[in-house]
Amino acid sequence: MLPRELFVPATITQIHTFDPGEIRKIVLTLPDTYEVEGRVFSVRDGMHPGSAFLARPFGQRSGKYRRRMYTRSNCAIVAPRILETIVNDTHREKADTSPWWQTEVIEEMVTTGGTIDVRVDINQQAGELVVYENSQKIQPNNLILESDHEWPTMRILALAFSTGITPFLAYLRYMQAKGFGKSDTCPGVEFILVSSVRNTRQLMDHEELLDLARIAPDHFQYHPVLTREWSEDWEGTRGRIMHEKEGEGSDLPVNLDPLLALIPNLDQYHIRLCGNVSARDQLMRGLHQLGIHSRSFRAEVW
Ligand SMILES: Cc1cc2nc3c(=O)[nH]c(=O)nc-3n(C[C@H](O)[C@H](O)[C@H](O)COP(=O)(O)OP(=O)(O)OC[C@H]3O[C@@H](n4cnc5c(N)ncnc54)[C@H](O)[C@@H]3O)c2cc1C
Repeated sequence: MLPRELFVPATITQIHTFDPGEIRKIVLTLPDTYEVEGRVFSVRDGMHPGSAFLARPFGQRSGKYRRRMYTRSNCAIVAPRILETIVNDTHREKADTSPWWQTEVIEEMVTTGGTIDVRVDINQQAGELVVYENSQKIQPNNLILESDHEWPTMRILALAFSTGITPFLAYLRYMQAKGFGKSDTCPGVEFILVSSVRNTRQLMDHEELLDLARIAPDHFQYHPVLTREWSEDWEGTRGRIMHEKEGEGSDLPVNLDPLLALIPNLDQYHIRLCGNVSARDQLMRGLHQLGIHSRSFRAEVW
């Protein structure tokens, strides 16, 4: 009997280190076919933009391979079976796999054709192994992109905190491949990306995003934000886009002025956020305190 779920080894074909020891792009390439118990299955990649795959990286603290989710930063229609993601060291007390991704072991694996297991689901009837994704259903707590009928009509404001840029990179690659949804009857999507990171090293795919904003100004605006270090000539935003006032209590005022300086009409947008719990909670509280109702709000936090 074949198992319902299975892991297929994906070769680490590329890495790019943005900030040494902190943030890295990883590219995992799955084979076209894979043999399970004497039967050859084709490997199918139908991942939705904004979804995550499940891999088995090594845990530096636990000394074991662990199951971890990674949001894909490219998209299946442009790069089938080539799973790109961006991983950071969380520096949490119990961080296990996230520091491992930043080590020299990964560099060696690229040169030696090392592999990482990626989960697939078996579809026996179709003879396929389908790349598993964390969710295919649109929900308030995930960032699966709306359907092709919907997103081209939307004004979307994406707020990315550090590697939280991954789902939005996938959106942009998908939207670009689909001509930003522009047709005779639809003007196409308006997408604003605010990418907040600590310093210039951590700006992910920055040049590509600047280029995209230049070539598709009707559809895409890019606002990079540096929160800790910047040079004198940095033209983007300096400092956090929202601040919680100091004090105690669960309803501390949140100052959204820096975000409002970038995007004054937040109520006109479908807001999407990817980052940590406190960023999500602060934004929700700030919007609530100011009585701002966005068109919709969805957030994924890790
Ligand atoms: C939908 C989704 C998408 C995600 N996308 C991304 C992404 O694109 N990029 C990214 O960087 N991250 C992403 N993440 C987060 C990622 O999956 C990991 O959670 C994160 O990298 C931290 O992993 P970690 O193993 O270091 O720590 P954790 O996930 O916090 O795990 C640590 C765990 O290991 C246990 N542990 C630690 N030491 C030991 C030990 N000695 N023995 C036994 N157990 C131990 C701890 O108790 C804890 O449960 C995503 C998460 C989700 C849910």
